[in-house]
Amino acid sequence: MAKLQQPKFVFMRGGLRPWADATLHVGCEAVTRNVNVFEGLKGYWQPSGNFGIVQLRKHYERLHRSARLLHIPFETSLDAYRDALAELSEALIEPDRDMWFRTTLFAVEGHWGEGTVADLVVTAYHQEQKAPEPIDLGVSTWRRSPDDSLPARIKAGSNYQVARVARIEGQARGCQDMVLLNHFGRVAEATGSCLVMVRNGTIVTTPATEGALESITLDIVEMLARSADIPFERRPIDRTELLIADEIALCGTLAELVPVKSIDGLPLDPKSPILKSLQERYFRVVRNLERLPGVELSVVATRAVADQGAAASA
Ligand code: PMP
Repeated sequence: MAKLQQPKFVFMRGGLRPWADATLHVGCEAVTRNVNVFEGLKGYWQPSGNFGIVQLRKHYERLHRSARLLHIPFETSLDAYRDALAELSEALIEPDRDMWFRTTLFAVEGHWGEGTVADLVVTAYHQEQKAPEPIDLGVSTWRRSPDDSLPARIKAGSNYQVARVARIEGQARGCQDMVLLNHFGRVAEATGSCLVMVRNGTIVTTPATEGALESITLDIVEMLARSADIPFERRPIDRTELLIADEIALCGTLAELVPVKSIDGLPLDPKSPILKSLQERYFRVVRNLERLPGVELSVVATRAVADQGAAASA
């Protein structure tokens, strides 16, 4: 069973706090009504010795949009946001271990939208440098909620209630992740990532209006596909079309590109030639081995800092 790491520090209330002190009061709206919006970002080691976060600005901008839609004030500037990520990175970084960051705006004061005050909390978890293993994917009986109830466009903690129960359903069926259909019965996305499929040489994914997050990774995958002259389409996908796809992968900041080896028990071509080639290039881009215009890598730490930290704790 996956166990949550407990890193030494968390960025909270404007500075670094020990993990054990990073708590919220039971009376605040972040706890009682799950009022929070967040972003998951990934930092990779580059062979040059830099540690760079992928599309930091895009994540910052999406956090703003989520906060705006839920009327959560977000006063932090882009520079201060980057500084918070850099401060935590420097405190926790380890040589050759990538990191996944969660930046969350928790409503710590206020009542029913009046007097809301939010705190930016940043947590970071180490990640091993390895390409994700192919998974068995299922189609859940749970559905992505429509845009007029819990919009998928808002990256809010509350949106992951359905993801959690869908994953529990998946575990009982031997699936490592699940596809959520939208209220029209068409493909929305997976529980914590978007979905791409290949049909007749074309990469197809669902537009956000089908109940998917506006994915930052998907935009990178689209740029990669276009640069390799692989046709890329955003259009609705029926459930049965997914079941007869040639290749399928999940796509997201943390997921990166996860190849799918079966869908609802139906095996897929393990070679997955088109999506595997994009996966290889994706890793080259995020490690700064290949330049792709439109992809920004923000350096927040270096090997010298990581080596110092490692020596201090030895
Ligand atoms: N959909 C959901 C529900 C997600 O949690 C994520 C991960 N953030 C994605 C899609 C992929 O988005 P991104 O590529 O911006 O990480």
